[in-house]
Order: sequence, then structure tokens, then C-alpha cells
Amino acid sequence: MAEINSDSHSTARVTTLAALPSVDVLLNQKEVLHWQSEYGQSLVVKAIRQVLEQLRAQFGAGQLYPAQLELPALVAAIDKQLQQLSSPRMQQVINLGGTVLHTNLGRALLPEQAIDAVVQAMRFPVNLEYDIDSGQRGDRDNLVLEQLCALTGAEAATIVNNNAAAVFLLLNTLAFRQQVVVSRGELVEIGGSFRIPDIMSRAGVRLREVGTTNRTHAFDYERAINARTALLMRVHCSNYAIQGFTKTVPLNELVSLGAAHDVATAVDLGSGTLINMADYGLPDEPTVQQSIEQGAQVVSFSGDKLLGGPQAGLIVGSHEQIQAIKDNPLKRMLRVGKMTLAALEAVLALYQQPELLAKRLPTLRLLTRPVAEIRAAALYWQPIFQRWVGTDFAVRDEAMYSQIGSGALPVDSLPSHGLCLSYQGAGRGNQAVRQLVERLRRLPTPVVGRVHRQALYLDFRCLSAAEADLLKQNLNQNN
Ligand SMILES: *Cc1c(COP(=O)(O)O)cnc(C)c1O
Repeated sequence: MAEINSDSHSTARVTTLAALPSVDVLLNQKEVLHWQSEYGQSLVVKAIRQVLEQLRAQFGAGQLYPAQLELPALVAAIDKQLQQLSSPRMQQVINLGGTVLHTNLGRALLPEQAIDAVVQAMRFPVNLEYDIDSGQRGDRDNLVLEQLCALTGAEAATIVNNNAAAVFLLLNTLAFRQQVVVSRGELVEIGGSFRIPDIMSRAGVRLREVGTTNRTHAFDYERAINARTALLMRVHCSNYAIQGFTKTVPLNELVSLGAAHDVATAVDLGSGTLINMADYGLPDEPTVQQSIEQGAQVVSFSGDKLLGGPQAGLIVGSHEQIQAIKDNPLKRMLRVGKMTLAALEAVLALYQQPELLAKRLPTLRLLTRPVAEIRAAALYWQPIFQRWVGTDFAVRDEAMYSQIGSGALPVDSLPSHGLCLSYQGAGRGNQAVRQLVERLRRLPTPVVGRVHRQALYLDFRCLSAAEADLLKQNLNQNN
């Protein structure tokens, strides 16, 4: 045993590490021997070393107690360390923050059809770039080409890693060392690192800003066009709105203006929906079809925003421009893998059965979830959360607004319902709320809510039945 202070009551510290067992001794404990067949010897040794290191550090800080050096305690510490070492860093979380498409939480949830398709593509060889009809080498874009053209009305399409890559690639292809004309009202920043002016300079194109923040006229574009102009560009204001005394040039006019000078028009739609949102009682958003119909030669949008699919950048448009983009050597760097294409194909297939879309596509299902149903969920969870937080917090059900998220339709929010947890105890409410947020985050399945004015809000729009079971287990374990 370790030597301890002479008066060996519970607070006595260990005064020498002489009794610290060796790696070999620990490795030969019965349980530890058993773990070696499950985790492999090297990971077990690593866990043991880390446990011993922690104990030495605690000893150094004068914070090591005799009980920690007893074999059962050491074995338990090794077990915990092994579990930590072998558990994935990417974890399921429960989204009660009320944002349906949250970039930090992975954006769109995929439909079962897409999940099955991805699993299949991971498990077996597939015809990713193999044309089964001819036996020749194929093009991976062709897997979704027909569907995309049919859905958008475009002549051609190509897929890259995300919409940021799509914008970069289309600029670099169609306007390298030339000018691109963009309205000052559309020089968007999306989440810090994606800023249209920065992307333009990195893509090797010169930005020609025209108009003012709130008003840009056709003559502004017209005056800017010169021999070095390669492209007119429209960027959808995804995450902000300019209201009041405003003027933008309708896309069809912009396209005509460009055409008169033999200059193509590109649109970065951002969220890019394929459906008429108003049909579902949702805030209106320009569709990809409309942009194509109005004559844009190139339209780019995200796969994992309103489309409800995997992370991807979809570029649709005319043969000439899309072919040029596909021929850019950078396309090879930005192309997507088979898992993405498998998921995307399955998601696009759901759009061919529009009547069933709101049931099958999780993003649309969540966005259109009836408030009455969300409210019923909130009422159901109210007593459960009240019990879980205790009397320091009042838990009340409340009408609230969900966000669509991911830069989609920022100014529009969806009527929803949830719980408001507000501090009732003495002392600083701020800190109590922060601790509550942390307690939710430290659950085996972390729960993410939204803090607003010293209260925690839980929106039940995004809680599925399967997640509800899991949440209940989490709260029961952590009472
Ligand atoms: C979201 C967005 C992007 C970036 O798309 P990612 O898929 O996140 O790369 C670019 N432009 C606009 C207008 C957007 O809304």
C-alpha cells in the first residue's frame, strides 16, 4: 500500500508514489486482460499509461488520495479511460434550439431512402464512374443529371462539395482574370469565412460593385459592362433583408441586359428550393426553376439547406457554361464522393412524388409540422422538465418561433411552441441559466436549447418520436 499521512483519515494525501502499480501489473488484472481481447493490447496500454499519468499529476498537485491507488479504483479508472478513448467524437445531439437547418448541428436530416442508399454505396462497389450500358468509363455527375434537369428545367448540371465551392468554381471558370458585376446590396457574408468579395478575389476574378446598398438600377449594371466583363452575378440575400426604399433589377431584365452585351448571368441562390414554399404555408423563396426560366445561364445552390439532402453544391444551367465548369481542373478537387451522390439521388427521387414529399423529406416535414402537434409535445414535456430542473426554475409552455436556419429565409420564422425555463431562485439568474445549459449539454445525449434574455427556451419542433424516447432516458438517468 501507499504510505500515507500518519493520521490516516479520509482527507489524508498520498505522500509517495512508491505504491503506484506498474503498467504490467495493471495489464495482468483479470478485467484488464479481458478488455485486451475487446480493445486490443495497444489501446489498453495507452489507457493505463494515461491513468497513471493523471495520478502522477494529481500527486504533484498534492491531490492524490490513498483510495485512488487501490486496485479496484485503478481498474475502474482504466475502464473509464478506455471508453473515452474508444468513443467517437461525433455524437448524436438533440436539437431543441428551434432551428431546423442548423449548420453547427449538421444541417438537413436525410430521409430513410437516402440513408439506405448511402449504406449500400459504402458496402458494395457501385457504378460511380462506370457506364453500365456501354461498359465505358462514365461521369459521376450523370447519376443525378436527368433528375436535376427534369426538376429544374436546366440543360445541364454538375455537383461539387458545397455551394461555396460551387460559387468559387463557377467564378473561376467563367470569369478568371475578368470582371464580374455585382450589386452592392448583394455582397453577402455567410458565416464569417464565406464572403462574396473574398471568394471573388480567391477565384481570380475582379469584383465590379455597382449601385448602392439599398438600390441598384439596370443603368448601374449597364454602365459597368465593358470589354473585360465576363459575368453578371446575382447573389440571393439569404441571411439578411434590405427593406424600405429599395430597388433591385428583376432577374429576367438582368439576363436580357447581359445578353445584349454577350455577357452571361449567374445566380447564387444559396438555399435554393425546388418547391413552391407558399404551397406548404411557408415563407416564399425563389425557386431554382424560376431562375432557369428567367434565363440565368448558371444557378448554384446548396444540397443540405432547403433541398433537404447531403452537403453538396449543385450547379445547373446551360450546356456551354456547365461544360466549361466541368472541364476546369479544379472540379476534380471539388467533386463529391459516392456517399454524397447516393444520398442526393435518393433525395431528388423523392421530389418526383411531390404529394408525398412533406411526409418523407425530414426537412420539409419539420418545417411544416403543425403547431398543435408541437404544442402537445411541449405540454407533455413540461412536468418532466419541471421535475428534472427542480424548484429553482419555473418551466412554462409558451408560443415561440422556430427558425428555418442555414441562411435560409432569416427574416421569416415559423410559429412554434416550447418550454421557457426561467430562474426563480435567489442570486444571479445569468449564472444559473448558464449552469442549466451546461447540464443539458453534459447529458449522455447532449441537448441543445436556446438562451434568450436570461431564460432557456426549448422548442419541440425538431424532436422526433425516436429522439423523445432517448431524451426521456437521458433525463431519467440524470435526475
Ligand atoms: C449558404 C450559402 C452559401 C454557401 O453554401 P454552403 O453550401 O454552405 O457552402 C453561398 N451563398 C449563399 C447565398 C448562401 O446562402
